[in-house]
Amino acid sequence: MSGRFLFFVLFVGFALCGGKAFAAPSASVLVNLGNIKYVYESPTVVCGSSPAEGCTRTTLAIAHEVRMTSDGRLMGLKLTFSLAKIEVEISTAHPKGSCMFDAVLKHELTHVALARAVVRRYAKEVPKEILARYQRRPFSYNDLSKVISVYQKKMNDERNRQDALLDKEEAREQLMKGCL
Ligand SMILES: [Zn+2]
Repeated sequence: MSGRFLFFVLFVGFALCGGKAFAAPSASVLVNLGNIKYVYESPTVVCGSSPAEGCTRTTLAIAHEVRMTSDGRLMGLKLTFSLAKIEVEISTAHPKGSCMFDAVLKHELTHVALARAVVRRYAKEVPKEILARYQRRPFSYNDLSKVISVYQKKMNDERNRQDALLDKEEAREQLMKGCL
C-alpha cells in the first residue's frame, strides 16, 4: 500500500495592526497516514512490557517549516502530521488463515485505524489553534517549536489512551474465546 497523503491550506485572512493591514500568517498542512510494516517472525511478541499475541507500534510526529519576515514575524507555517512508523507484529504461534491469526490481525488493524484517526484530528485542529494563539500573542521561532512539541506529546498521549481503551474492550482472553 502506498502512503496516504492529504493536503490542505488554512488562511486566517488579513489582520489590521495600527491602521496598517498586514498579511496574517497562513498554514499549509500535510497529513501522512503512513505505510504498515508487517512483522511475522517469532512466536514470542512483547508489547510494551507484556507478552502478547500481537502488537502495533506507531510513531506519531509533527514536523514544521516556517517562513518569517525579516523583522521576525511569522508569515507561513507548513505542518506535516505523520504516522512516521507503523509496525504490526503477529505471533507465529498463530498460523496464517487460523481464527486467532485473523482475530489478532483485525485487532491490530483497529489500533492502526485509531492512530490514523488521532493524526487526522490533530491535523485539523492544531494548525487553527496555533494560528489563533499566534494572533493573540505572536511568538518566536523557538516558542513555536515548544508549542509544537506540546501538541506532539498530547497527540501521543491521546493515541496511548485510545490504545488502552481498545485493549480494555478487546482483552486477550476475549480474542481467544472467539476462536474456541
Ligand atoms: Zn491491542
